[in-house]
Parts: sequence; C-alpha cells; structure tokens
Amino acid sequence: MVTLQNITKTYLSGKIEVPVLKNIDLTVEEGEYLAIMGPSGSGKSTLMNIIGLLDTPTSGTYILDGQSMENRKEKELASIRNSKIGFVFQQFNLMPKETALSNVELPLIYAGVRHGERAKRASEALEQVGLADRLSFKPTQLSGGQQQRVAIARAIVNHPKVLLADEPTGALDTKSGFQIMELFEQLHKDGVTIVMITHEPDIAQCAQRIVSLRDGRIVDLSKGKGSVKEAEKGLDLDAEEKGEMQNE
Ligand code: ADP
Ligand code: MG
Repeated sequence: MVTLQNITKTYLSGKIEVPVLKNIDLTVEEGEYLAIMGPSGSGKSTLMNIIGLLDTPTSGTYILDGQSMENRKEKELASIRNSKIGFVFQQFNLMPKETALSNVELPLIYAGVRHGERAKRASEALEQVGLADRLSFKPTQLSGGQQQRVAIARAIVNHPKVLLADEPTGALDTKSGFQIMELFEQLHKDGVTIVMITHEPDIAQCAQRIVSLRDGRIVDLSKGKGSVKEAEKGLDLDAEEKGEMQNE
C-alpha cells in the first residue's frame, strides 16, 4: 500500500542544510496496522506528512497504492490525498462553530458529493464511531474523546485506503486514549490500513508492528501486541478499573 525507498528529507535553515529523514526504507502492507515511535524531533511528523502527501521528500521514491508519487503537480497530489488518505491529529482540528455532522461532511463537499447523500454518509460515519446521538453537537459540547471520534469519522467518511494518525491519543486521558485505540482496532478489522504515530509505548503495542525512529533513521522494527486488551495489561489504571468492576 505504502512503499518508501531511500527517502530523505532535508530542510534549509538559512544556508544550513538540516537532514530530518535519512534513507528511510519502509513498506506498509494493505490492511496492516503500524505504529511509528521515536523521541520528539526524530522526524515522525515529517515522515507522516510525506506518506500523507502533505510534504514531498528531498530524494527517494514513494509508491502509494501501486503508483509512484514522483513529479506530480500539487493539484494532482491534493486529489490523490482527498481520495486515498484520512488524517487524524492530536488536537482534533475540528471547525469549532460547526456541528459534528457538518465537520464530518466537509471532505464530502470537497469530493463533490450532493447534499442529501452527504448528510447520510456523514451520519453513518458518526454512527460507526459511536456518536449517532451527537450529530448536532458542537465541539465545545463534546468531551476530548468524543471530539477525537468526530475527527475519526471525518477521516473515514470517504473510505480512505490509509488512515494516518499523528499522536491521536496525545491530548486525551489514558482511558479515553484506549477507547480511541479500540475504535482503531475495529477499523483495522474492517480492513483499513492504519499508520499511527505515538510516543506512548502502551499505545504503540495496540498496533501489529512498531517502527522506531531516531534522528531521522529507522533504528528498530518490532512486533506489536496487535490488541488493545493485551496492550492495556499491566497498566495501573486498568488494574484499578478491573478491581472496581469486580467489587460492583
Ligand atoms: P517529531 O514529529 O518526531 O517530533 P518532526 O518531524 O516534527 O519530529 O521534526 C523533525 C525535525 O525536523 C525537527 O528537528 C524539526 O525542528 C525539523 N523540522 C520540521 N519541520 C521543519 C521545517 N518546516 N523547517 C525546518 N525544520 C523543520
Ligand atoms: Mg510530531
């Protein structure tokens, strides 16, 4: 689905070249669930922006869904991005004055879907993330976890080939974070390819495979537990909640 071959990214800071990604080789198979880990500044977001066609590499080859992304015009990249990629960010990035439904309809407007069909598909996506009863709520009327669910509904409403998430649990408490991971697990079971950035080891374990970046290089590839249940084991919060449940 995603093949990166010898990808580099170098930014210019004045006259000084700052290498941010160095010789990245990475393949994400169709239907795979991958986590990218690494300390702050290691290049995770830069890598995700390249995969998401928000940024272009300085050198190297990027093949998305069988097509080379080299030498393409911005307009063409935008069109591929709109049809094949869904994004989820740490800060949700919702339109604050619009309802959940309108927020989720936005990508469908870009895709040229007609009004009635838009509302239908947006409410289906919101239902899929467990917010069928919150269609007319605005972001301020929703919890952080619920806002992230709206953002996920917006990301999947176009049925993207790849879902890219940059620290999707970073602004949430542990419990809401794992609820988001349960939703990702369900989407993965439904066949969505997921690439998720996180710096939380327990969250990374929810994925099937974990890539570790350091100073712009892949320094480790390992297997994740691939299950929220397994990833949650050993967490204090989890143990407390289980205890409470047994007492009830
Ligand atoms: P991470 O997401 O792992 O924290 P980033 O990919 O955001 O890391 O950034 C990696 C490095 O690239 C950082 O040192 C950052 O300062 C630098 N960087 C990111 N974007 C730019 C830019 N537009 N211009 C110059 N340097 C940048
Ligand atoms: Mg980042």
